[in-house]
Formats: sequence, structure tokens, C-alpha cells
Amino acid sequence: MRNNKNVRTGPHKGIMHVFRSIIFCGACGSVMFARKRHNRPMNYICSSYGKAGRTACTSHSIREKDLYEIVLEDIEKLLDDEKMSNKILQKLEKGKATEDYEVIRKKLLKQMETKQKQQEILYQDKLENKISESLFLRMNQQLESRISAIKQEIDQLEARKTECHDLGDRIAKLKNQIANNGITNEVAKTMINRIVVFDKGDSYEEEKWKLNLTKKEKEYIVLYGAILIEYSF
Ligand SMILES: [Zn+2]
Repeated sequence: MRNNKNVRTGPHKGIMHVFRSIIFCGACGSVMFARKRHNRPMNYICSSYGKAGRTACTSHSIREKDLYEIVLEDIEKLLDDEKMSNKILQKLEKGKATEDYEVIRKKLLKQMETKQKQQEILYQDKLENKISESLFLRMNQQLESRISAIKQEIDQLEARKTECHDLGDRIAKLKNQIANNGITNEVAKTMINRIVVFDKGDSYEEEKWKLNLTKKEKEYIVLYGAILIEYSF
């Protein structure tokens, strides 16, 4: 059959899955991987089960779409809270090179000044007939285009600076990005420490997960199973 290739239980390669490397099986502690079977929605399953079958663990299967919707709703709520969204932005932007705007600005202004001086000298030379008309035009054009390029760089720098300092704008941008592109693996990894999936009947071990669950919550997990999402804020 042509579709044999789709019926496989190994990890689904080639696509960066949203919850890759942050989702774990509550029963055996293994990482869960994404699995796609023909005509079935994308699921995450326990990797021990995926490799060794029922002798190792149970599937703990969860639909990527369901989990995605829960997380999306949570993240949208977090971003509505100003304090939270500030923390989120700090985390997302950490590690990105912070440019020293003033240093770059001064350097650009200096470059511009130099070019403008050169242009003055050129005019003077032209007035005193030290250079030909055609040479003047050619050199002047070069200087003009260099000066306008520097001006453009300064404008762009200013724009980046404003963008970077306006928190409201940055939050709006992040919300927009999530609305347009959804939650990426990068965003998920920044915002979520762990997702732990428990099937009905699994027992929660505090020493293993350290999520400070109450007795009631533990009982709930055994009775109904649960998906625990630990956000990093
Ligand atoms: Zn497992």
C-alpha cells in the first residue's frame, strides 16, 4: 500500500513541533514526541511507549491541537497582564545583542560631518577652477549618495530605538506575531518550563516533578488524568 509510510510510530521528522522537548510523560518521565498517522490528527505520545510499546508505558496520547489551544488561551491571558507581559518580553529579548544606540549614532554623525566637509572642499575647488566640471559632478554625486545613505542609517537607528523603548508597542507586536504565526517552538520554550501528561491511573510523584501539588490534586490525577503546564513566570 502506498500509505504504509504514514503508518509509523517513530518521531515525526522535518517539522518543528511547538512543544518539542518540553513535554513529558507523567508515568515514566520520558519526553513525548509528535506522531502523525494517516488521517489522524497530530499527537504527542510517550517516547518509551513509541519505542518499546505497551511493555514500557502507555501512549499518554494527546492531540497537539487541543494542547495548543489551552496554551494559546493561557498565553493570551498572560500577555493581557502588564506585569506579566513585561517579564515575558524581558525573557524573549534576553540574549539578543543590545546595541549601544548613542555610540552608533555619534559614529554616524561623525561620518556625515566628514562627508559634508569633503563636499565643502569640493565646492571650493570647483569655484577656484581647480577641478573640471565633470570631475566635480562625479565626486559630488558620490558624496551626496553617501550622505543620504548615512542619513537613512540614522533614521533607521532612531526608529529601532523608539521601537525598543516603548513597552506597549513591543507587547502589541508580540501579540500580533502570535496572532499571525501562532505559538512557535521558541515562544513555547521561553514561556513554558514543562508540560507533564498524566493518564487516568497514573500516580503523581512529588520527588520527581516537584510541582507542589496538594493531596486533592494528586487524587484527581489518579482518577481522571491531567495535563500540568508549568509556565516559567
Ligand atoms: Zn511514559
